[in-house]
Amino acid sequence: MKTRTRFAPSPTGYMHIGNLRTALYEYLIAKSTGGDFILRIEDTDQKRYVEGATDIIFQTLKRVGMLWDEGPDIGGNFGPYVQSERKPIYAEYAHKLVELGGAYYCFCAHKDEEDEVENNPAHTKLKDPCKLIPLEEAKKRIANGESFVVRQNINKKGTSIFHDVVYGDIEIDYDELDEGVLLKSDGLPTYNFANVIDDHLMHISHVVRGNEYISSTPKYNLIYEAFGWEPPVYVHVPPVMKDAQHKLSKRNGDASFQDLVAKGYLPEAILNYIALLGWNPGDEREIFSLKELEQVFSSERLNKSPAIFDIAKLTWMNGCYIRSLSPEEFDAVAQPYYANITIPINKKALSSALQPRIETLGEIAEQIDFLQAVPDYDLALYENKKMKTTPEVAEKALKIVLPILSEVTDWSNDNLFEVLKAAAVANEMKNGQVLYPVRIALSGKETTPGGATELAVILGKDETLNRIKAAIQKLA
Ligand code: GLU
Repeated sequence: MKTRTRFAPSPTGYMHIGNLRTALYEYLIAKSTGGDFILRIEDTDQKRYVEGATDIIFQTLKRVGMLWDEGPDIGGNFGPYVQSERKPIYAEYAHKLVELGGAYYCFCAHKDEEDEVENNPAHTKLKDPCKLIPLEEAKKRIANGESFVVRQNINKKGTSIFHDVVYGDIEIDYDELDEGVLLKSDGLPTYNFANVIDDHLMHISHVVRGNEYISSTPKYNLIYEAFGWEPPVYVHVPPVMKDAQHKLSKRNGDASFQDLVAKGYLPEAILNYIALLGWNPGDEREIFSLKELEQVFSSERLNKSPAIFDIAKLTWMNGCYIRSLSPEEFDAVAQPYYANITIPINKKALSSALQPRIETLGEIAEQIDFLQAVPDYDLALYENKKMKTTPEVAEKALKIVLPILSEVTDWSNDNLFEVLKAAAVANEMKNGQVLYPVRIALSGKETTPGGATELAVILGKDETLNRIKAAIQKLA
């Protein structure tokens, strides 16, 4: 049988890192075995509806290259793939389940507030009076227009045992399960019902989801059993943690996928990093493209202990990805960060200076803040023991190089370097005594993305000469 997995996000308006990791494992379980990856939108909780949220899910998956074989936008044989469009299907199966004895009609829902109904202790287990209403009578009340919910019927004694790929055999007493609502009074299903119906009808072979669903899995198995359906293979994964105690959570202000991209992390690096949060290849290797992960992934190597999201490690990995881009690719991803520079600069030269120096694209802003205009710097910046420079040495050096640079026609890094070195030699100065002042004159900063000549190439001849002139005036 073909492996079929599904990513079933609720449209919340952002892509949580933990959800993206679940999607990745689902994708890899399918693709490493030539199977299908299905996208299903779980939007039955209308209170949480967020405009445009589905697009964010589409865009994120596309951006990391995890394309789905069936889904809301492309269809497939087992649609619709949006739960709110499947309302009649859930109703049909809910009534069937009542007939089969796996659920019953409950009329105690005096409010549409489902959570209240679900958490009302009067409705748990055999204590629920509605459970005792004869089915024929219940149907009459429904026919008379009375509002109802469908509630799961659990009267099993003993222990449920099921297997999970990550956690092994799990035992949960039936006694611990509550008879939750499956179909709400508005006719929409709860997650507890919809997941079973959809996973069955969509022929899902492997269900991959957060381990918070383990405790409810016996309830789902009872529904599969009542219908005479085969349950899927379960792969529950531990949460992604912020630290030993706390889950990573967008609601607590932790970064989502979009936040990380906005901070200058590359989608490919994020994906690579999160693959390793709960899975390992069995050796020391850490850098994997999505295609490579498809080759090496196996669900046996999923880990049951929670992984801590380490931003320093991600940053390191992002640096590796930035350095592995071709110069053209780097130049393309860096362009948006140059948007505020209005003076004519050599952007290609800027990109080649930045690429080896940064770990996230977000660092570009600070690296290039002197390009538009030299900041108001202190003359003490020309004081440098190692370079043997002082403001006086700097003034002398800059006065020497200004006329020389005005004559230069080959404005390349190599040539400029030779010219400045020759100027130092001719004036019995150290290279640093010339190069360092030029670098400060061009940038007004101690740390720059490149040396004097690299900055000169980035700024171009006119701007370079103007900045040296301005520095000489400042030093005078
Ligand atoms: N909509 C559920 C969630 O976002 C999906 C859980 C599942 O994969 O079954 O948590």
